[in-house]
Amino acid sequence: MHNEQHKLEKDNARIKRESSLLAPLKDFIVRRLLDFTGSQRFLTTQLDVTNACNLTCAHCYHAHHNNSGALDLAGWRSILDQYDQLTAKLYLEPRFVICGGEPTISPLFWPLLEELNSRWPGVNVSVLTNATRLSEGFVAEFKRYNADFQISLDGPDRGRHDLIRGAGSFDQALAGLKNLQRAEMNATFLATLSHRTSFWIKDFFDVAARTRVSSMNFTRFISQGNGKKLEESSEDRPLTPHELRQAFQTILESARKTGVSTSTNGPLYHLVDPSLGANGKLGFQGLVIDYKGNLKVTSRTDFRLGNILDEGLENLFLKHPIMRALRNREIEGCGSCVHYDKCGGDRNASFAATGSFLKKDPGCWLDVEPQRVVQEVS
Ligand code: SF4
Repeated sequence: MHNEQHKLEKDNARIKRESSLLAPLKDFIVRRLLDFTGSQRFLTTQLDVTNACNLTCAHCYHAHHNNSGALDLAGWRSILDQYDQLTAKLYLEPRFVICGGEPTISPLFWPLLEELNSRWPGVNVSVLTNATRLSEGFVAEFKRYNADFQISLDGPDRGRHDLIRGAGSFDQALAGLKNLQRAEMNATFLATLSHRTSFWIKDFFDVAARTRVSSMNFTRFISQGNGKKLEESSEDRPLTPHELRQAFQTILESARKTGVSTSTNGPLYHLVDPSLGANGKLGFQGLVIDYKGNLKVTSRTDFRLGNILDEGLENLFLKHPIMRALRNREIEGCGSCVHYDKCGGDRNASFAATGSFLKKDPGCWLDVEPQRVVQEVS
């Protein structure tokens, strides 16, 4: 007995000694990893739980909504196992966005939410929704989760929103918003910023202030799916660099006037106001996983790095040549730009315009602005 205790004490002392010797090395590795990931301490993951939708929006970037080949819950669980290992390896906290299609119509919506919450109790989940299905009863179910909501709003009133999203969708979205607010859940608006909607920016902020949402945000129009058809028929298009700069100025001015906040960590905001811009190191913003389990570089392009179930999440995320090129700043124009760390350029827009994620943001007005101004004045 005495011998056993002595051996145990010796073993404990050895483990303690070895741990203290290894501690600086472990700290060094952690520091390097955190440096690699920048100030961002989350690995935000967008789960496109379905590509089916109950609306058919005029500018939707999805080519179809048939949801064929979608993952089942077992497939998502296997991906979450891999995500758990990756976040542990990179010392990052989990955070999720549930998206679609329209996520609330998926039979996997609640089981997946439950799965996330049981694996990571209290984890933050943002639900990106058209809000047309948020009845009082539906919203009451969210009380168990740490969820917030981004509501797609594509026109500041019934006429303009329904023109893009279909008859009745504006009233349904506002009814959904009211139910969320009654349940004291946080909701923001998200509008697509295109040539057509750029004339409505002030009105968007007015409706946001009137309905007391916490933020009015914008995402740039992408010429993919229905969006490409709109551009081909000249019904709508992405903004030119000069128009984009004016639109961002109007967004910031409207936010100041109305007191409604707006997200300013996207590409190009830093050029309008040097105090704004990205917080984390670019090329490492997060994961986008589509309804078939494919890992994507960006949410709104249809390019896939590979299928996670076949090729592995860590392998694709850390070793795919495109991800490596992004991390190494091998981006034409943007990579050598002094504003890169705060801007980075929009990779969605780069791909939609050129078929490559590694080109300069086509909306950037640096260098091109004088020429544009001259053309537009003459
Ligand atoms: S060149 Fe790229 S990184 Fe530089 S400001 Fe323009 S879009 Fe941003």
